[in-house]
Amino acid sequence: MKKRNVDLVCDIAELISLEEVGRDRRELLQKVVTSVAKHMMADVCSIYIYDEEEKVLTLRATQGLEPAAIGTVKLQLGEGITGRAVRELRPICVGSASQSSSYKFFPGIHEEEYEAFLTVPILRGLRRIGALVVQARDANYFTPNDVKALRAIAAQLATMIENVQLLSGARVEAEAEPQPVRRTLSENILRGRSASTGTARGKAYTLASGHAESCLLPDPESNGHTVADFELAIEKTAQQIEKLQRQTSEELADVAVLIFSAHLLILEDDQFTGRISNLIRTGTPGVKAIATVVDEYVEVFSKSKMPLIREKVLDVKDLGNRLTRNLLNETDEECDYRGQIIIAHELLPSDILKLSAENVEGFIISSGVTSHNAIICRSLGIPMVALARELADGIPDGEALLMDAEQGIVYLKPSDEVYAKYRELDAAWKVLHDAADVKEETRAKCGERVHIYANINLLSDLKPARKFKAEGVGLYRSEFPFIVRNDFPPEDEQYVIYKKLVDQMEGKTVTFRTLDIGGDKMLSYYSNVNEANPFLGMRAIRFSLRNKDIFCQQLRAFLRAGAEGNTRIMFPLVSSVDDFINARTIVYECMDELEAEGIPFSRETQLGVMMELPSAVEVVDELAAEADFLSIGSNDLIQYMLAVDRTNEQVSSLYLAHHPAILRAINRIVSAAMTLGKDVSICGDLSADPRMLPFLLGVGLRNFSIDIVNAPTVQRMVNNIAIKDAEEMADAMLDLGRISQIEAFLLERNLAPAAEA
Ligand code: PEP
Ligand code: MG
Repeated sequence: MKKRNVDLVCDIAELISLEEVGRDRRELLQKVVTSVAKHMMADVCSIYIYDEEEKVLTLRATQGLEPAAIGTVKLQLGEGITGRAVRELRPICVGSASQSSSYKFFPGIHEEEYEAFLTVPILRGLRRIGALVVQARDANYFTPNDVKALRAIAAQLATMIENVQLLSGARVEAEAEPQPVRRTLSENILRGRSASTGTARGKAYTLASGHAESCLLPDPESNGHTVADFELAIEKTAQQIEKLQRQTSEELADVAVLIFSAHLLILEDDQFTGRISNLIRTGTPGVKAIATVVDEYVEVFSKSKMPLIREKVLDVKDLGNRLTRNLLNETDEECDYRGQIIIAHELLPSDILKLSAENVEGFIISSGVTSHNAIICRSLGIPMVALARELADGIPDGEALLMDAEQGIVYLKPSDEVYAKYRELDAAWKVLHDAADVKEETRAKCGERVHIYANINLLSDLKPARKFKAEGVGLYRSEFPFIVRNDFPPEDEQYVIYKKLVDQMEGKTVTFRTLDIGGDKMLSYYSNVNEANPFLGMRAIRFSLRNKDIFCQQLRAFLRAGAEGNTRIMFPLVSSVDDFINARTIVYECMDELEAEGIPFSRETQLGVMMELPSAVEVVDELAAEADFLSIGSNDLIQYMLAVDRTNEQVSSLYLAHHPAILRAINRIVSAAMTLGKDVSICGDLSADPRMLPFLLGVGLRNFSIDIVNAPTVQRMVNNIAIKDAEEMADAMLDLGRISQIEAFLLERNLAPAAEA
């Protein structure tokens, strides 16, 4: 068989004639690759499209590679042979790809089977549009004629892609911009990013796909239900929700305030239930009547300009679900999300709380994961994986899933072997994280004392904190009670929550952090700021200093709760000594007020700075002189020092705790505090990273505030390190100026750093 390059060029011209432009572009690109592969007798033909802003090429159509790779395989400009061709604006023909220094291997898409590789950039003048690639099994398969033919096709594709861009008036593929992460490993294994660890097993249930699919949903036309049946269903639903609210309030006192109130309000709304009754009365089958009215509400709510109303969409869907199941007389047990893994594009922290109360097994989320959603899931012990939208959308409802949220992997229809393997891994995890193994005191190998504190996000974290023998609370993230409410919680309500925290720690140190909202942690009821760069905007202490009333209410509640306890207060995102002094002045004002009012508090309450910004590191000597203590917030310190958004998957490979700048900053902070005899601790995720523990101990850190379930691992690790050895290691690491040198150093000692955040 002969290659038919002339026919090919003609065919493609026809294929992409103007009539075709209005068609689905994906289908069109797919036709192009199929046709090119056939005419050139190539085993593979693929099209990558270039995003000028991101400087990334994304695979958008392929004949021959794994279809699941579409949208997920990405190349930076200059990366791999194709990335190089596009960067250098020239075709590259390689006889044997595996021998090429530019070759980039993607596991799971079977590209390695093809040796010959020809890639031609798709250009408009000098503007980069994408790349057309052909591959063949046999080495040296493509000829100079093939290069010419492919160039001719690429020229036509450029026009076609530009036309589509013009017609749609949008950036190419903006609609399919991939969400967090990577690629499919195989059809049955989806790879994403871990947001909250653990393993979950269950059936897939997509929240966005409407209402009521979660449980054996009947034919919507199923008839025979009367208005009286529906009224019974309302009663039963109300009872279930009230019970759920009661249970949640007991277990999650700080964040559960009226969390199901919208459900009850809607249920009591005559327009809602009345309209369903009317539809049933006039002959609409019950299930269909519920669905119709729920859909109407969803439509209205989702279009609302008010975020608070838009947030109720999930509630009304959930309500529809419950009413339907109760109408069908299903049992109480079936009215929750037990045995289900929820797939959603977005979730609010309050949704997570509700779904957790309804026994959901795990979450797959297809938008970026906000740090608070991740933190709340970790606190609730619910695994969460962030998956690219196209991968998440491809999971059919009802599919059996196994989520390995440690690795960020989702197995579809797992085999018996996979289930067995995870049973073993879960058992091993339990052994490694057995609270019974934790001793009251943590000591290094040489006997030196080290302290392990707990990070507390929800009051429910106190139970594990006690179980894992935390020596106190090194970080209480106070924002959760704010995030799940409809308004700023008043001082007295805050006091009750903070007091519980202090009481339950029974005299141990409790470190309150003042409100850290802004960035990716927004309050729906405080949306008067619309910021282009929220991480650089009105966040944390800046918000508190700007909103003194809210700040004072929180400070007063902290001070009152700490009247008899051993409490400290620290401020997040301090960028200058002035920030700290301003915040401290307000604390003193609150103290004076409380004193004047005769309300007990402790003047001894220590005030500290969270070290999270490069500017704070530069003035750390002065900060250490002013503050009573310093606490390193490594999550933000890394983010701001390296200018790497901690929630942006595209740059997660640059989020490196072992970057020399981070190591030196930590060393500087600890030295400054120690020189002045001030207490210093670390409370970001780095504090429980076993690979970095020797370094942290070596620079002098002795106070670690961690997600307390990691206490057994951290304690074991500390037990095995002598401080002298740790100091030698830290000194050696501080001398290294390159990331690669530090990686090699850690690797030599079997302490390979995490590849990603
Ligand atoms: C940190 O930045 O390390 C930290 C502990 O704060 P958060 O993760 O809540 O921003
Ligand atoms: Mg922080």
